[in-house]
Amino acid sequence: MKIFLLIADGLGDRPSEVLKGMTPLEAANKPNLNKMAHEGMVGLIDPIKPGIIPGSDTSHLNYLGYDPMKYYTGRGPFEALGTGLKLEPGDIAFRANFATVDEGFVVRDRRAGRIRKDTDKLAKSLNMEIDGVKVMFKEGTEHRGALVLRGKGLSPEVSENDPHHEGLKVKMVQPLKDEAERTAIILNEFFNRSHEILNSHPVNESRIKSGELPANAILFRGGGIVPDIPKFKELHGFSGGFVAAVALVSGICTLAGLKNYTPAGVTGSLDTNIEAKLTAGLEALKNEDFVIVNVKGTDIAGHDGDPIAKMKFIERIDQAIGKVLINRLDDVLFCFTGDHSTPATVKEHTSDPVPILIYYKGSRADKIENLAESQCRTGTLRIMGSDLMDVLKSHAGKAEKFGA
Ligand code: ZN
Ligand code: ZN
Repeated sequence: MKIFLLIADGLGDRPSEVLKGMTPLEAANKPNLNKMAHEGMVGLIDPIKPGIIPGSDTSHLNYLGYDPMKYYTGRGPFEALGTGLKLEPGDIAFRANFATVDEGFVVRDRRAGRIRKDTDKLAKSLNMEIDGVKVMFKEGTEHRGALVLRGKGLSPEVSENDPHHEGLKVKMVQPLKDEAERTAIILNEFFNRSHEILNSHPVNESRIKSGELPANAILFRGGGIVPDIPKFKELHGFSGGFVAAVALVSGICTLAGLKNYTPAGVTGSLDTNIEAKLTAGLEALKNEDFVIVNVKGTDIAGHDGDPIAKMKFIERIDQAIGKVLINRLDDVLFCFTGDHSTPATVKEHTSDPVPILIYYKGSRADKIENLAESQCRTGTLRIMGSDLMDVLKSHAGKAEKFGA
């Protein structure tokens, strides 16, 4: 059997008053998921382990079989993946901010007047080479961005230049270990050159004219090395693909060597074309034994604190499943879960375990009526994220007996 893993990002939730004490998943009208839950196995999954609040990055790594305690090298590299930069193992990456500094390099605004526009133009002007090292800068959302160094003899063991408070001077980067001396020199040189470029950049000239703060400095922190992770096929013995519009998720899947089947035009928002994503997932299974499909709307509605929008997004997932997927699962194991809980009542990720459903022809049937947090508690599955691939492989006939 082939494996279709559908991740509704941030799926898990808590009861909401506007939903009469139900969770969005519980309240959603979802005949297709409920049918599969009745005929399949359900349960709860701790994405990392009990009590650990997962990020989307650490959780997706864990689900794919990569221990995040081993392979997660800090927010820098993974946020850089999230900007869509094509990273290579060994790259050194930092989280970065556009900021405003005065002539004495004292930080006036850590977010450059909450700049939102034209950061792509500013970012483009900051790609350079210093002492044989390729320096790349890519804008993220709002004032955020990613700074990446690529070259030989680099080390992430450096201090940051971000003083973290306004009114303080930008810090000189210091090596924290001997081997990082050259990296620190390059980063300080980057800060100086980028300040010069940004100071005279047309985007900033027009910002000053219209009374806005110029984005004339780059603050960076959270440096880490892009890990060299074994390929998915080496780890599991079969190839895989992915469908994901969110750059952070697609970056992790790419790093793992999964092939990209994401169709053009789909997004990581609430209005994405879910049918197109599921169809692309089925398409991927013509070539691959495994596909992971991520839909992000559930997480977005959770962060927005909007349980009704989250419920409606789950209903759209169910309709799409009914339309393009449910009748095409003859030789496919279908798994539906989330990478963590994002309760609309909390607006952030929590450590609450997440409902999980595994459905294939001939599986055990937990016979629950409604796929929801409360009913999943009574089901067969009680697993951790690191178990997920083993559980899926064993049920899909892709595992060998342990012992004689
Ligand atoms: Zn997530
Ligand atoms: Zn989130």
